Amino acid sequence: MMDLRHISPEDLALYALQALSSEETAAVRDHLLGCDVCQAELGRLEGDLAMVALSVDQQPLPAGARERFVQRLGSEAPAGAGERKRTEPISIERKSGFRGAAWTGWIAAAAGLIVAAALGFEVKTLRAVLQERESRIASLETSESRAKQVAEVLTAPSAEKVVLTAPKTQPAPTGRVVYLASRGGLILQANNLAPIPAGKTYELWVIPADGSAPIPAGLFKPDVAGNGSVVLPPIPQGVKAKAFGVTLEDAAGSKTPTAPILLAGAAGTSGE
Ligand SMILES: [Zn+2]
Repeated sequence: MMDLRHISPEDLALYALQALSSEETAAVRDHLLGCDVCQAELGRLEGDLAMVALSVDQQPLPAGARERFVQRLGSEAPAGAGERKRTEPISIERKSGFRGAAWTGWIAAAAGLIVAAALGFEVKTLRAVLQERESRIASLETSESRAKQVAEVLTAPSAEKVVLTAPKTQPAPTGRVVYLASRGGLILQANNLAPIPAGKTYELWVIPADGSAPIPAGLFKPDVAGNGSVVLPPIPQGVKAKAFGVTLEDAAGSKTPTAPILLAGAAGTSGE
């Protein structure tokens, strides 16, 4: 049975923050079980929330993540104010570049992170606190106050931040290079590589120590297990390397590396 009405972004945001009443939570959960559209929206929202949490003292936010998150929160009427404003059903655009695949593990981690880090493990206690606070929140006039509270939790010095990963989460890609400059001998063994899109290839680069242009050092594609290698590519002898890098290029390869560098390592970091 599919309900044609979707859950509003505001309710999904409150659900992600576990700030709905138990009745509302049950209703949302029931709907989510049968609705891919709302599941996807929730995943996106949790991803943004996790990005906000992670970015507090780490990486810069991906473009728009904070804005999207705050915007979702910002359009929310205070909970417990009698009737929460129901907005238009979500219209989900099916973007061509579906970003689900690479994000799947992330979202699983994000969902756990929201509970564990943002709410500090004390879910039951916090639910009670949140319910108690609902009456206070109702008296707060601006929707900014909710976003502010979220920011306060996320930025509290005593807040614990824990990254959770699902057991099946793909380990990070790694590569090992053995390089004998005098002979121009180079061997790369890479693992846990992401599958490459059609018409693309990975390309290895030698970055010379003298500052000259990166030298293309072989194209390679990962096998189904994500392993790839380059063995003795035709490169000049006697080039002292500053670093090695791997980029994603068009299938024919490139003369110059295309950002971003997916794998990189400085030469000489593990002995000559
Ligand atoms: Zn739905």
